[in-house]
Amino acid sequence: MDDLRNTINGCQVDPINGRWLDNIEPATGELLGRLPDSDGDDVQLAFEAASAAFEGWSSSDGTVRSGHLHRLADAVEAHLEELARLESIDNGKPIALARSVDIPRAVANLRFFAEAALADRTEEFITGERARNLVHRDPVGVVGLISPWNLPLYLLTWKIGPALAAGNTAVAKPSELTPVTAARLGELSVEAGLPPGVLNIVHGHGAGAGEAIVGHPGIPAISFTGGTVTGSRIAAQAGPCFKKLSLELGGKNPNIIFDDADLEAALVTSLRSSFANQGQICLCGSRILVHTSIQERVVDAIVEGARGLRVGDPLEDKTQQGALVSSDHRDKVHACVQRAKDEGGHVQCGGQPPTALPDRCAGGFFYEPTVITGLSMETKTNQEEIFGPVVTITPFDTEEEAIAMANATDYGLSATVWTTSEDRARRVSNAIDAGTVWVNCWLLRDLRVPFGGVKHSGVGREGGEEAMHFFTEAKTVCTAQGTTT
Ligand code: NDP
Repeated sequence: MDDLRNTINGCQVDPINGRWLDNIEPATGELLGRLPDSDGDDVQLAFEAASAAFEGWSSSDGTVRSGHLHRLADAVEAHLEELARLESIDNGKPIALARSVDIPRAVANLRFFAEAALADRTEEFITGERARNLVHRDPVGVVGLISPWNLPLYLLTWKIGPALAAGNTAVAKPSELTPVTAARLGELSVEAGLPPGVLNIVHGHGAGAGEAIVGHPGIPAISFTGGTVTGSRIAAQAGPCFKKLSLELGGKNPNIIFDDADLEAALVTSLRSSFANQGQICLCGSRILVHTSIQERVVDAIVEGARGLRVGDPLEDKTQQGALVSSDHRDKVHACVQRAKDEGGHVQCGGQPPTALPDRCAGGFFYEPTVITGLSMETKTNQEEIFGPVVTITPFDTEEEAIAMANATDYGLSATVWTTSEDRARRVSNAIDAGTVWVNCWLLRDLRVPFGGVKHSGVGREGGEEAMHFFTEAKTVCTAQGTTT
């Protein structure tokens, strides 16, 4: 694969410092290509381009911005198969998933916010006969967008869409582990006629390019998705500068199965919510909590399902489990499983890299889907995000106990509740500390609804109007009516 380049001011450019990073293919462990190891100088160049483009872009009519976002969506859609293949190669995820979820969702993100660009968000408040208040929503300026490796193009476009729709220009940094589709998006944005400087993509390490974006004095808003520790570091850097911050962070999501659940549906979906994308989705239900009376059935079914998942070459259409994103991450996941054993957990299946893989994948970073039982909620295994194909199953006796267990971590991103009782669904979803509670479903997303976490899972909300609010500043113009003093 050719070296990737930064997209700055509508051009493909090398890093100013001449430094490059290796990009490794997760399924093979082989060198895939190189990407810029950008630093503050490249971020400054991108900022200057974004700054110069801001006036024209922010003052353009919503229909113009909408048209540009639709054309970018068209370009992504026209290259769906190519982008799905690139995402699969770069991330290690099954191509079937990239084809059915990642890239279509990137298209949907851009189209959704293309429509959002058309709305007039000015609100009017009349203060009796004394005043008329108009609340305008102005773009913030040049915004910083930082995204993770697990859903690379999906999460990057989830930020680019609202940022540009609201009239901002952007400096975006994808994860250095999965830069390929972002680089391709940069090229496509130029081909699709997006004005130079509106969208700039700078590759590199979090500690280099990422920190330079967060610390840049001319960038007043940062939208970040990634780990909780990184989020805290970014908050510490951006807080004293009074920047607007949206932080979408980690999760340790409970998946609660009551004894009155439609068990067949619960089991099919729980297998998916445990292991989709090799468990590398912030919304994965990594803690299955099950009523004692059905514990055995649930453990047996999830173990059988996990054993049956086809682990293999991500580029094979039938593969259900691809590679983890890096050797470091695979080693971290394995260390977490070892720790679970030390904590007294029983590994019911998995717990090691698979032995039978195609020759091409012999050096890849694969890990067997792993099910662990016998651990209390206090253990580190049930407290800390593993972000891999590892799920724990823990029994409860009462609804109160299930709620207490669900809330017994520092995280609060999402939860799933399986029950046929509407009353119970209402009680439990009200009592759970999470930004999203799914009842009898998982990962069903309406792009209009707010999305985000509580506690250590984040600050702020993305999605729909929440995102448009984040990427705008409200300004109230209060005009006196009649005679005033
Ligand atoms: P990281 O926090 O390691 O990295 C996320 C992004 O931040 C990357 O682009 C990274 O660059 C960059 N970065 C790292 N350090 C800094 C810094 N000091 N300043 C600015 N940018 C920085 O997350 P991962 O990529 O490992 O993604 C996995 C995590 O993301 C999981 O915890 C997962 O739960 C969470 N996540 C949350 C979601 C949500 O919506 N709540 C959705 C998806 C994932 P680099 O790659 O170079 O380190």
